[in-house]
Amino acid sequence: MIKVERKTTEKAIAAIDSLKREKAKNGSYNTPEVNAALREMFHGKCYICENKQITSYQIEHLIPHRGDIELKYDWNNLFLACSHCNNIKRDKYEPIIDCTKENVEELIAFRKEGYFGMEEKLIFDVLDSKIETQNTVKLLQEVYYGSTPQKKMEAKILRKNLRKELSKFKEYVREYKEAEDEEKEDLKCLLQQQLKDSSPFAAFKRWLIRDNKQAYPELLVYID
Ligand SMILES: [Zn+2]
Repeated sequence: MIKVERKTTEKAIAAIDSLKREKAKNGSYNTPEVNAALREMFHGKCYICENKQITSYQIEHLIPHRGDIELKYDWNNLFLACSHCNNIKRDKYEPIIDCTKENVEELIAFRKEGYFGMEEKLIFDVLDSKIETQNTVKLLQEVYYGSTPQKKMEAKILRKNLRKELSKFKEYVREYKEAEDEEKEDLKCLLQQQLKDSSPFAAFKRWLIRDNKQAYPELLVYID
């Protein structure tokens, strides 16, 4: 999970207009405009797991609306999630961090310990004491590990995607470290792309750089 800015883009304005119309007739918040604006805003990623290889998108209410008409059609309460995360969150984890308002990476450290074939573990270190942060970490634990047999299976696929992405990223960092001159500059651009908000599992990649900031101080500018 990373901070995502809720910018007033053309798509966002169209989404807000469509929500106003739907609210008046108690229609659906699931309009094409809302979907397009959320996809743009969240870079096509699920806001909870940061996976980009999603086959099923859902519109998630950060604060469950429970029939409350204001919350149901409130643009600021709508988020893009994958069905795996949406089904896990439901109204079980509340309140969680609002990633459009809080700098998530200052509240939680995202780490993966161990290597493939060895004891591998995802770690979500809580960096503050707010209830929202604690709940978000519990949600992330369930998202990445699952609790029912089906969710465990889905979580395994999610972790596999994460592992692949992080391996690729680490390989780029290794190549960057050994490269010289022009090649080094090319790899630096590649790493800059990898550290952007739109990159899958960006929180994990950025924390890897933060944890190795002595070795790569020049890459920190792409993070904060
Ligand atoms: Zn997800």
